[in-house]
Amino acid sequence: MRRGTLVFLLLLVAEASGKSPPGSPWQVLRVDSVEIRFTAADAANAKLVARHLTLDGLPISDELGLHRLPRATVFIAPDKIAFDTLSSAELPRWTAAVAIPARRRIVLKSPRWGRDSDLVWDLLHELTHILAAEATQGRPIPRWLDEGMALYFSRDLRYLKSRALSRALLTRSLVGLDEIDDVLRFHHAKAELAYQESLEAVRYMVDRFGSGVLQDLLMEIRAGSPFPTAFRRVCGVPYRLFEAELFHYWARRHRWDFLIDFVYVLWGGAVALAAIAYLLIRRRNRRLLRRWEEEEQMGGLDSWIGPPAPPDQSPDDAERSAYD
Ligand SMILES: [Zn+2]
Repeated sequence: MRRGTLVFLLLLVAEASGKSPPGSPWQVLRVDSVEIRFTAADAANAKLVARHLTLDGLPISDELGLHRLPRATVFIAPDKIAFDTLSSAELPRWTAAVAIPARRRIVLKSPRWGRDSDLVWDLLHELTHILAAEATQGRPIPRWLDEGMALYFSRDLRYLKSRALSRALLTRSLVGLDEIDDVLRFHHAKAELAYQESLEAVRYMVDRFGSGVLQDLLMEIRAGSPFPTAFRRVCGVPYRLFEAELFHYWARRHRWDFLIDFVYVLWGGAVALAAIAYLLIRRRNRRLLRRWEEEEQMGGLDSWIGPPAPPDQSPDDAERSAYD
């Protein structure tokens, strides 16, 4: 079936099934094998999730060699209590959404209360985790690869624009790829760095080894190879050598990225100064104009009034002055 026809049919299915099971606070929307559960206040958000599952979720599944959406349930948590209950794990505060591949569950924060979340980026991110787990049939993959693919396929601009990597290069505080396995124990700033490194590592892999590298690697892991063996077979270089090459590349490519922000700040400052100077000059010119107008007005009255009158003189004074 052509992709356009398939997408259209899936959207029809999604639109047709927005019914709430009796006695449940959850309403349900289905897109192929994915069930979206939401409360009434998130009806519009559920439709957005349904649309992006078909428009973006299917292409991601193609990239990973699956060509279909996974069997999964997507919850849009109406509040923090529901989010914590559904994710049923001790998560760091900075967590925006959760995927639990073993339970085929994705938990998203409703944008009505999850200020740190973005519904579409988070959906595609967590969906990629579920798809990757399905592609390897649950065999473990390194965290950096898992998170890197999730950020790469969700096209999450929050990390594409991050300067965490550049700052870490400057302070020599990069996190080793294997260390990223513990990302859930990192504080927010270190986690941001770990996520950006993961994304950049995956982008580098795709540039260096071609677009099919991720799918091939997942297939090799699924076949039972330990990760370093799978990496060498698919990419043709030892994993440790790749990591060294990657860090060397970052040092050349990203070291000065933070200066871009600095240049923006300088430009911003220059524009602000120019605006202030313009306003000051305009105010001074207005004052000058007002003074000229007042002076002109005064000059006009003078011509009507004539010269000032001499002081009053008594007849005695006049007499005296005649003899002075
Ligand atoms: Zn993730």
